[in-house]
Amino acid sequence: VFQLSVPLNFLGSMYRELRQSLLDMETLFNLQKVNVQVKDKPNAPPLVLSKGEIKFENVSFGYRPDRPIIKNLNLTIPAGKKVAIVGPSGCGKSTILRLLFRYYDVQEGRILIDGQDIRDVSLDSLRKAIGVVPQDTPLFNNTIEHNIHYGNLAASKEEVHEAARRAHIHDSIQNFPDGYKTMVGERGMMISGGEKQRLAVARLILKDPPLLFFDEATSALDTHTESALLSHINSLVKAKARTSVFVAHRLRTIYDSDVIIVLKEGRVAESGTHEVLIDRGGLYGELWSAQETMFKDGEGTAVERRVG
Ligand code: ATP
Repeated sequence: VFQLSVPLNFLGSMYRELRQSLLDMETLFNLQKVNVQVKDKPNAPPLVLSKGEIKFENVSFGYRPDRPIIKNLNLTIPAGKKVAIVGPSGCGKSTILRLLFRYYDVQEGRILIDGQDIRDVSLDSLRKAIGVVPQDTPLFNNTIEHNIHYGNLAASKEEVHEAARRAHIHDSIQNFPDGYKTMVGERGMMISGGEKQRLAVARLILKDPPLLFFDEATSALDTHTESALLSHINSLVKAKARTSVFVAHRLRTIYDSDVIIVLKEGRVAESGTHEVLIDRGGLYGELWSAQETMFKDGEGTAVERRVG
């Protein structure tokens, strides 16, 4: 009996390991909507980053041929600057990030990073250069520690905890049943949307990529935690002069950007700083007034005090 049970146990644990990694892959692939049609060109060289400038040149794209989403889009995201992409729901903001990450390829035009067409460089090097805090972060069925560590597997445990502190999630983790060893994901403890977002920021801090994208990255946080985390993200971005792109609904989270790009129906409607766009009295002005009115009826804020 003893002789038999050893290999069976062994097989059982192999099976569990295998099953777990399959689940992890599925979660990641489903959530990141990986498009298998996007492939490396033969012998594609790695992306070489110098300054971190991103350019869209005459880009057109639609998920379906009969329904264009991005239409002849031209825009420049200057190196080392904080740029926001805003605009009405469905105008294509998240699509821009998906195109940059090459989840899909453009149908016309090209996207350049430091002068290199992203279709000409290896996917691996492109995705390594970019860090994303998405709307919904994929979690591995593993410990919370592993989920942060995944940002940079070479980091030490101390660095993982430091990243968690900087993302304002360390204290919450301390209160989880097994601290950093608490299992999360589909088969572990359910963590809140706001905790997931902070976990994603911790993962990003640990990865420390040259290009940073935030897709509604703080939308699930309360106003207080949100402004604390945003000011930390700001100092991080500014200290290292990282090119960072924020897709946002709530304008008060991005009004201090170096450039605000306002999209409408897949094209740039206007762009500039908050002050310039407010003076202009166009679409941004309208969106800002509408949100401020809603806000004044609601909770009241730090931004009102700082800007208003
Ligand atoms: P929101 O502010 O509401 O998040 P958005 O500006 O980020 O919107 P996108 O997510 O870029 O908009 O979507 C633009 C349009 O493309 C929407 O009409 C959406 O329904 C459509 N769309 C998005 N993803 C897909 C997809 N995988 N397949 C087909 N259509 C899609």
